[in-house]
Amino acid sequence: MDILVVGGGGREHAICWALAKSPRVGTIYCAPGNAGIAQVAELVPIQVEEFGRLAAFAREKQLGLVVIGPDDPLVEGIVDAIEEAAPGIPVFGPRKNAALIEGSKTFMKDLLHKYEIPTASYRKFADYAAALEYLHSQQAPIVIKADGLAAGKGVTVAFTQEEAEEALKRIMVDKVFGESGSQVVIEEFLEGQEMSILAFVDGEIVRPMAAAQDHKQLYDSDRGPNTGGMGTYSPLPHISNEIIDEAIETIIKPTAKAMVAEGRPFRGVLFAGLMVTPEGKPKTIEFNARFGDPETQVVLPRLKSDLLEIFLAAVEGRLGDVEIEWSEEAAVCVILASGGYPASYPKGLPIQGLEQAETAHSLVFHAGTARGEQGEWLTNGGRVLGVVGVGANIAEARERAYEAAGKITFDGKHNRTDIAAKALV
Ligand code: AMP
Repeated sequence: MDILVVGGGGREHAICWALAKSPRVGTIYCAPGNAGIAQVAELVPIQVEEFGRLAAFAREKQLGLVVIGPDDPLVEGIVDAIEEAAPGIPVFGPRKNAALIEGSKTFMKDLLHKYEIPTASYRKFADYAAALEYLHSQQAPIVIKADGLAAGKGVTVAFTQEEAEEALKRIMVDKVFGESGSQVVIEEFLEGQEMSILAFVDGEIVRPMAAAQDHKQLYDSDRGPNTGGMGTYSPLPHISNEIIDEAIETIIKPTAKAMVAEGRPFRGVLFAGLMVTPEGKPKTIEFNARFGDPETQVVLPRLKSDLLEIFLAAVEGRLGDVEIEWSEEAAVCVILASGGYPASYPKGLPIQGLEQAETAHSLVFHAGTARGEQGEWLTNGGRVLGVVGVGANIAEARERAYEAAGKITFDGKHNRTDIAAKALV
């Protein structure tokens, strides 16, 4: 069966890599992909927002499945567009009306409120003056969120009133996120341990994946600006199975059910960003409508079952019956970023040591790389590579990830040195 994966980052590299292990897979196409993905898939020069061309490609190749990686096209309705223009070709990912759970924070918060699903208390505003007045009645720390997608930059955790007001102004007055900032959510600050739970979902059927944890900030000890994610690990030895089960039972399953009740059945990967409060209660921070990046890079290496069979079961309405087994091993992913990321950074710098970094216990997923004229590897993005170590436990996986990451060099290379450190204590 020939398949198309839409997207071109580290997440899509991990998805293509996992799909390539399936005995039923024929050609894997990836649009637009990247130079690293070209090692496991045939690249198709179509961008993720070109729905019509993607559908035409799917029809022409009579694909058995299309898998959507990134959030933007999902929120814009890529699944509906391909289903309409290429009837009969199954697409794994939520339709537009279900992807709204990621596309609008006010929708998500109202849904959770209506169905009494645990989350931070909040107010939403479309009017700047009203939002500012409310802010004056509150105390920092407090969290300000743009309603729509903002490339992961729409959330400010404000520790002072000034920071909160500044964030509100940037969103609603300066409109730095455009229309995404026409509404804001002002939310209670939650303390605790963060965790992410991803699940394969089809309607009310929820099949959880291994839990993972991201590190959002650029620098060690969670300092510096927020990024797309600087590293991940899975499992989470410091969070009990009881808490993880509680999160699945009280948050993920009720949310899937609520979406069905609202006439927006969700099919795809539902990703819950959660805070485990000091009392041990999981509360929702956010929902995403797709695989996380870089969570996927540590979750899929732990999947023992066939990813293609899971995708097919989901699109064929038999997700409840498919085998989904996870390995006991741990995985740690360290992101190697370009100097200057997440602000401006150079591209086209030579990368050395990639071949040496891949061993029986380490994987390299490419997020932003290209090939030069002589076939040499070059940097081509803010996040360049995700280096994954796999081992019997977090300590071993972490050692292997950092050993492999150390073999790779490029000018300005930056990585955090404390990925998964919390899990060791
Ligand atoms: P989001 O884009 O919604 O995932 O938010 C980005 C980051 O902001 C999260 O990963 C959390 O670290 C933090 N955050 C968001 N909402 C809250 C909250 N209510 N309390 C504390 N931290 C939060």
